[in-house]
Amino acid sequence: MNGKLIVDCCDSAYAALIRHTDEIAELDQRIGDGDHIYNLIRGLEALRTMRAQIEAADLGEALQLAAAKVLSTVGGSSGPLLASLLVGMSRTAPRECTTAGVATMYAAGVEAMQQRGKTGKGSKTMMDVLIPVAERFREELPKEAERGMMSTREMLALKGRASFLGERSRGHIDPGARSSQVIITALCAQLAESRERGRSHEEVF
Ligand code: ADP
Ligand code: MG
Repeated sequence: MNGKLIVDCCDSAYAALIRHTDEIAELDQRIGDGDHIYNLIRGLEALRTMRAQIEAADLGEALQLAAAKVLSTVGGSSGPLLASLLVGMSRTAPRECTTAGVATMYAAGVEAMQQRGKTGKGSKTMMDVLIPVAERFREELPKEAERGMMSTREMLALKGRASFLGERSRGHIDPGARSSQVIITALCAQLAESRERGRSHEEVF
């Protein structure tokens, strides 16, 4: 049951975001309304309350369950966007979690997100982290995520609340880009660790 992989990923993402809460809240206070990290944490806490159900499901079903929960608990722009990511991934969930299978699944999720948020790279959003990671999935993912996150610093915000600031949005890293990078880095570490422990999803990365 690959639902266990989803539960493990939620645990890693949660632990990583808890470590970065104050920093991401501060980024969002500069160019947003400050709630982004708390929205994400609320969603991950809601997912923790249904961990047994998710764990018992297969990968596609687990992602669907998670998407519905995220949609109903994470507010703001991030909730519907992350739910689209999970739905897109659930539609293409592979039977075997090989690197190629996971790469295709993740790319489909990011594509669904782009359609929902109507933006790609260059608008100073989380897409500046998520898209380059999808494009270069087989390479060094944490490095790619960091490059994408840092690239938002000098960008003009074109989407979301930060876009209301116009030129004043420059000089600040986008909070959604930072939370996405923190999560991706944590998931890479967690998946590498599961592989070492020889779990069923051993071929990932
Ligand atoms: P809100 O903008 O409603 O306050 P959140 O606080 O949940 O939403 O999330 C803010 C983050 O959402 C931003 O830092 C940015 O990365 C991301 N974001 C905003 N609009 C979009 C969009 N159209 N597509 C992708 N990401 C977006
Ligand atoms: Mg917000």
